[in-house]
Order: sequence, then C-alpha cells, then structure tokens
Amino acid sequence: MSSPEQRLNSVLQRIATATQNAGCRDRVRLLAVSKTQSDTAIRALAAAGQRAFGENYVQEASAKHDALRDLALEWHLIGHLQSNKAREAATRFDWVQSVDRDSVIAALARHRSDTQAPLNVLIQVNIDGERSKSGCLPEQIAALAARIACQSRLCLRGLMAIPDPEHDAQQRAISFSRMQQAYCQLRDSYPRVDTLSMGMSGDFEQAIAHGANLVRIGTALFGPRE
Ligand SMILES: *Cc1c(COP(=O)(O)O)cnc(C)c1O
Repeated sequence: MSSPEQRLNSVLQRIATATQNAGCRDRVRLLAVSKTQSDTAIRALAAAGQRAFGENYVQEASAKHDALRDLALEWHLIGHLQSNKAREAATRFDWVQSVDRDSVIAALARHRSDTQAPLNVLIQVNIDGERSKSGCLPEQIAALAARIACQSRLCLRGLMAIPDPEHDAQQRAISFSRMQQAYCQLRDSYPRVDTLSMGMSGDFEQAIAHGANLVRIGTALFGPRE
C-alpha cells in the first residue's frame, strides 16, 4: 500500500500535468474529500501538506471540525444542505459549495457570524437535469447570483457541478463545457468569482481540460470508502 504522502503527491502531479496540457491558466486547487474518513486519515493527509477538506454531511463535519481544530484546516461543504442544518453550516464551514435555492441563501446569510469572514459560496448547478439531484437549473444561476450578491455575509466565488455518474466521457465533455460557459458569463458580472469546482477521482483531468480550477477528490487520495 502507498502512503498518504505518496497518494497526495501522485494526485498533485496528475493535476499539474493536466493543468499544463490545458495551457497553463490559473492554479488548480485540490479539495480532499474526507467523507467517511477517520480523523487519523485526515491528520495523515494534513501532515503531508493538504489544507482544504470537503465533507458531505454537516453533523459528520462538525465532529471532525472539533477533533481537528488544532490543525486550522479549511472546510468545504459539498453535500446537499438541508435548511434545518443551515445555521450550523454557516458557522462551521469556510465554503459552502452546494447553494442551490433562495431559502438556503437567506439562512446562511442570517447565521454567518459577524466575527467570521464572509462565507464563500458556490452555486451548485444540476448540469444534466437529473431529477433526484440537488443543484439549480442553469437558467436559474443569474437570479441566485443576484441574491447572493445582496448579502454582505456571503461572498459569491463561483459554480460547482457533479455530472451524471452514468454518463460516458463524451457526454461529460458536453456538461463540462456548458459549465465552463456559464462560469465565464458569471465571472464577467461578479469580480470576486474565481472558482469552477468540478472533477472527481474518475474524471478530474477531463474537468481541468474544461476549465475546472478546483477539483474534489476522495478515493484517489484516501483509497476506497467503506
Ligand atoms: C464523494 C464526492 C466526491 C469525491 O468522489 P471520489 O470519486 O471519491 O473522488 C466529490 N464531490 C462530491 C460532491 C462528492 O460527494
């Protein structure tokens, strides 16, 4: 078995190569997706130099946040956010990537403490129109962005998407490039927008080729989840 440090370096190397192949734009950030992983596994990756971690569930993240407070990590919520968890999410996380409706925007803004920096948010887009999935429709992005921009406790940083896992590489390319277009449009209107979050263990090189600059990777860093 490879060590956490070896796995991290291998992923970072693949990101660097993909970034170079895409024609050296901005830096691509790595978010380590630590859902279901133990505090020990997260500590090992942090010791190897990784700072940003992504979690899907508010409760699970809060426990890790407490246990790993000494490390001063950056926490991202990447799972669907229920309204009744918005208060906890607003104070626990540095980023919420799964903002997809007005009620969540209002709740996060209301509960983000004045003593904290504004909460960084991404609008999650349901790019393949999957019925059961969270995320707004592409045509709703502009209205949600305008809502976020009115909130001084929130900072709109960009877009996030999870393509339909059933899709093949060709179908995914279409989804990724639609996201890239939507992202460029949003960036023209909002100067603080600088983040396009797409790409996971199985497709992050392809996502980078389509302009992703934050990739969310679990399995390739931690090994398969239980
Ligand atoms: C679990 C998860 C990931 C990471 O998936 P891997 O295939 O393990 O890299 C990325 N993004 C989201 C939203 C996830 O839920």
